[in-house]
Amino acid sequence: MIAFADDTPLAAILAEVFRFGAGESCGKCTPCQRGTPQLAAMFEAAMAGGRIEPGRCADLLDALGAASLCGHGRGLAEFARAVQTHFPEEWKACFS
Ligand code: SF4
Repeated sequence: MIAFADDTPLAAILAEVFRFGAGESCGKCTPCQRGTPQLAAMFEAAMAGGRIEPGRCADLLDALGAASLCGHGRGLAEFARAVQTHFPEEWKACFS
């Protein structure tokens, strides 16, 4: 369970979840070992006003969802996709 304030930016939540995911990765498969730190860095950059390249983010999430060897990586991809589905405006704001 993660608690956060009502006004916490979505990019901060995504960055925190992917930082956690990167820290907990066992390192056995590349999409999780290499992809989760890159996704965390992307959302951290978005928090700092940087721009995320949407195609690169989508590619990393696709690889994480399709090629992770366990539910850790797949679950992280599903989390991001759920955010994208249920909070489309906030998701788009991460890329502008
Ligand atoms: S998806 Fe699972 S098996 Fe692959 S690196 Fe992450 S924790 Fe390890």
